[in-house]
Amino acid sequence: MKQRIDLHLHTTRSDGARTPAELLDYVRDRRLVGFSVTDHDTIDGFRDIKAMLVEGDPELIPGVELSCSGPNGDLHMLAYCFDPDHPELASALEDFRERRNQRGQKMVQRLNDLGLQVNYETVVGCAAGAPVGRPHVAEALVELGIVSDFDTAFHKYLGDHAPAFVPKENMSPEEAIDLIHACQGLAVVAHPMIHKAVDSVEALSEKGLDGIEAWHPDHRQSDVDRLKHMAERFDLLITGGSDYHGRGGRNGSVGSEPVGVEIIQKLSAAAQRRRG
Ligand code: AMP
Ligand code: ZN
Ligand code: FE
Ligand code: FE
Repeated sequence: MKQRIDLHLHTTRSDGARTPAELLDYVRDRRLVGFSVTDHDTIDGFRDIKAMLVEGDPELIPGVELSCSGPNGDLHMLAYCFDPDHPELASALEDFRERRNQRGQKMVQRLNDLGLQVNYETVVGCAAGAPVGRPHVAEALVELGIVSDFDTAFHKYLGDHAPAFVPKENMSPEEAIDLIHACQGLAVVAHPMIHKAVDSVEALSEKGLDGIEAWHPDHRQSDVDRLKHMAERFDLLITGGSDYHGRGGRNGSVGSEPVGVEIIQKLSAAAQRRRG
């Protein structure tokens, strides 16, 4: 059987429902040979898991999913193989956290304006130290009995076109590429079929983009084929993963995408070349 990896995973350190320890257990159970924890705008989960690894565990490569503001709205930029101790990264991630916390407060204000009794402290409690995201607001709405379940919270209030949604205002994809390169990493556009990020790939490849995510639960086989062709045409790496958040539903399960171990080898080689 092909040796599998999963390069797109979330934990409770951002907006996943499973702790780093639980995620590591799943990765071990699925017998993956490599993985990357790509929490939104934080590497706390990566650090936790790195400290838990023992001899014989699958290879963990540094990862993070940066929230960028692109021409079509949200664009998620994955970074891999960077230096996790780079000071520029630490300072950028602090800024992301601050902006997420401010946006969380704005969403609570919107909910209050809609007549709902939500306070920001409940959201912060749900985030449990993570930079605040919509899933934490959704959990708070469930906890307070305002909605019956998580998906309803998105449907009625927090989804991209729902009344309490507040867009993130973040760095551009080009700025993210420069930041990632300054930290000696590789920049990869996440799930390009979401928010039409695919339309930006050609221009970003001229700005030094290293890769695109081809395998993702939201991509149909025809999308995967199209993205593979694009990668060849613009000389980009391809990556993939489940985008596991531990809640079932819209995301995949750990190791659910057919990503082979050779992808890690290609990423590592490209990162080496970048370091010179
Ligand atoms: P944020 O980065 O704070 O805008 O939150 C985005 C996260 O919310 C995504 O990574 C998903 O985990 C989750 N999400 C976004 N839209 C939905 C939706 N319609 N239903 C359920 N979860 C969603
Ligand atoms: Zn998420
Ligand atoms: Fe994403
Ligand atoms: Fe993700």
